[in-house]
Amino acid sequence: MKSNLIARLSSILTPNELLLSAEERQRFASDQSGLDGALPLAVLRPATVAALSEAVKVCAAAGVAMVPQGGRTGLSGGACATGNCVIVSTMLMSGIAEIDADAMTMTVWAGTPLQVVQEAALEHGLEYPVDIGARGSATIGGTIATNAGGIRVLRHGMTRQHVLGLEVVLPDGRIVARLGKLVKDNAGLDLKHLFIGSEGIFGVITRAVLQLRPATRACTAALLAVRDHDAALACLSAARRTFAGRLTAFEGMWPDYWDFVCHKTELAASPLAADHGFYILAEFALEGDDSAHFENWLGQLLEDGIVEDGVIAKSLSETQALWRVREAIGDVDADFGAHINFDLGISPSQLGHFCDAGDRLLAGMAGVTGTLKVGHVGDGNVHFLVGHEDDAEVSDRIEQALYALVRDYGGTITAEHGVGRLKRDWLSCCRSPKEVDLMRQLKSMLDPGQIMNPGALV
Ligand SMILES: Cc1cc2nc3c(=O)[nH]c(=O)nc-3n(C[C@H](O)[C@H](O)[C@H](O)COP(=O)(O)OP(=O)(O)OC[C@H]3O[C@@H](n4cnc5c(N)ncnc54)[C@H](O)[C@@H]3O)c2cc1C
Repeated sequence: MKSNLIARLSSILTPNELLLSAEERQRFASDQSGLDGALPLAVLRPATVAALSEAVKVCAAAGVAMVPQGGRTGLSGGACATGNCVIVSTMLMSGIAEIDADAMTMTVWAGTPLQVVQEAALEHGLEYPVDIGARGSATIGGTIATNAGGIRVLRHGMTRQHVLGLEVVLPDGRIVARLGKLVKDNAGLDLKHLFIGSEGIFGVITRAVLQLRPATRACTAALLAVRDHDAALACLSAARRTFAGRLTAFEGMWPDYWDFVCHKTELAASPLAADHGFYILAEFALEGDDSAHFENWLGQLLEDGIVEDGVIAKSLSETQALWRVREAIGDVDADFGAHINFDLGISPSQLGHFCDAGDRLLAGMAGVTGTLKVGHVGDGNVHFLVGHEDDAEVSDRIEQALYALVRDYGGTITAEHGVGRLKRDWLSCCRSPKEVDLMRQLKSMLDPGQIMNPGALV
């Protein structure tokens, strides 16, 4: 059956579009979740939508599972190969098809890296405001499929808010496209939202029309040290009241994380003289004489005792140095050892209490080696890393305990990384049986053969 499938795919795809060597197939087996993917039967990377559609029809007819892949930076295992599947990579469908500066839109192929989109928008005085640490490799298709969040959600919202149109190849090979630039369109159901955040289970996204914004002219960043998470919330409220939409990021770092990246490893350098109970990295878009306004505002917080210490970046390199402390989360794996990377969403006002309760639960648990907590606290999203002795039983116990706590707090098991394969069995901790059933019914309707990314999400 395999040789028959390959023969049929070879008649549609060029040798550059169909990778068959064991070495190449292994290269595409996994994403960055730490989950080991199976060896796929083949890697399909069609350069055109027509070729993709034909290849999908061949796989569907043969009942062969397909796993869509973008930049493989996913952290939930959604892009990992399952047994007897082919990988469908958007790698060769890359590039910007059109920028309409008047409509402030960009039409882009799914395999285009996020950073390429950001830079192209800036050349027109515009901005694509979705931004994540993996910007150099993550693709537009992948960010749409996962409804990526990131560091500017506070001001601009998630990826969903920036997509005007989509083209998708369905699991039976049909191509459905609505690539208009309409901001207002109430003609029936807005079907694109079914595919945004669907993690590749309903089809392969091939093109998108993105809504751009006027570029932010200048930004300033500040690192603020406060007593605890409640004090951080007080700062957040004050910043929102004073700067409204000009607050672009409000990131939080707990002492376990700060200590690890600044003191226990050389991943980042602390810009502060002493240690504190909680650290905030806040970024503001500047307009007019905002710079002085911002310094006065911070001076007042220091005087009121809400902020204990603070550093304002005076140049781009100082801004980058402050961000380096926050983005060091992407480099902790080797030093921190075996761990679970929880991506939890809790109501912002409860996040601090949730983390304290989580710490208490884990403190008494055998096999736990440490925690690192960092996140988009303005959005109520914490990346809660729990180190453990490399043992499946311990890891399962940790997941049981933390996800049960998430349920008690009415939170979500994933705020932005998605469910993928790693969190699928925990979905019921934040979604009711009726919701999960409805997801399954939609999956069965669009993919009755269960061949598009089986085992991911539901
Ligand atoms: C250092 C680092 C920092 C990160 N920071 C953030 C962050 O701040 N916020 C955040 O949300 N995420 C973050 N991530 C996670 C990851 O970058 C995002 O999930 C990203 O959107 C994945 O894009 P990708 O192209 O790599 O997709 P992949 O990893 O290839 O795939 C992810 C999922 O999307 C599906 N998929 C991919 N392309 C398509 C397509 N064209 N059509 C249909 N389905 C598709 C896959 O099947 C899979 O289920 C981070 C990851 C790293 C490594």
